Amino acid sequence: MNTAPYARGILGAHRVADDLWLLAGRPRLAFNVYVMGDVLVDAGTRHADRRILRQIRELPLRIHVLTHAHLDHMGASHRVCQELGLPLLCGEADVAAAESGGRIGLADKPWPVRVAQRLLAGSGHPVDATLKQGDRVAGFSVLEVPGHSPGHLAFWREEDRVLVLGDVVFNLRTSTGRPGLQLPPRLLTPDPLTNLASARRLAALDPEVVCFGHGPPLLDGERFKRFVAAASVDRARSVRITEWSC
Ligand SMILES: [Zn+2]
Repeated sequence: MNTAPYARGILGAHRVADDLWLLAGRPRLAFNVYVMGDVLVDAGTRHADRRILRQIRELPLRIHVLTHAHLDHMGASHRVCQELGLPLLCGEADVAAAESGGRIGLADKPWPVRVAQRLLAGSGHPVDATLKQGDRVAGFSVLEVPGHSPGHLAFWREEDRVLVLGDVVFNLRTSTGRPGLQLPPRLLTPDPLTNLASARRLAALDPEVVCFGHGPPLLDGERFKRFVAAASVDRARSVRITEWSC
């Protein structure tokens, strides 16, 4: 990879670890977009398109990957892939959602999801390839962590214990908008029990740096592990939520 364009830093971005940047977003830390080496991870809402392009245009990016195909992570994906000629990759079970822009089965989803779709979602985009457990992306291992979406992925770099986990856990309190660990809202999580099992698998990796889809990176792996160990899901309520899926 040509590292020269990265040497002076990425416009407005926060360097989280070696070859890992969190792009500037708005509202700040609400919908996180990362550059992981030569890979763009997620793309916010459709309103983020110009801001993302401004920050990454000079970088020698190779691919765009999604942690999962929800509207707040792929809103600008179509525009970014088109303008920069990047192939789009995601988990196998999220392909239909990515290609439809989240519109498959929309009529059956709860009304807040339908409203968010209208306000924030971008166009769908053809998926060029899928990622699966054990694949390598920019020095990170791909992990399949379903639950919040069926094809949800996380990225793990063992040598410095850096984890990029999408929405398996939030570091943003949805009730206050302030940083704080919580499980993703049930309304947006078709299978909360499976998601919790995914969170436990991630905590067992013993990460030191954890990067979230929502909220600031956490440089305290112990706190992450304590949170996941104490987290629980109401089994009866979670069954009802699984009647619809993304
Ligand atoms: Zn999200």
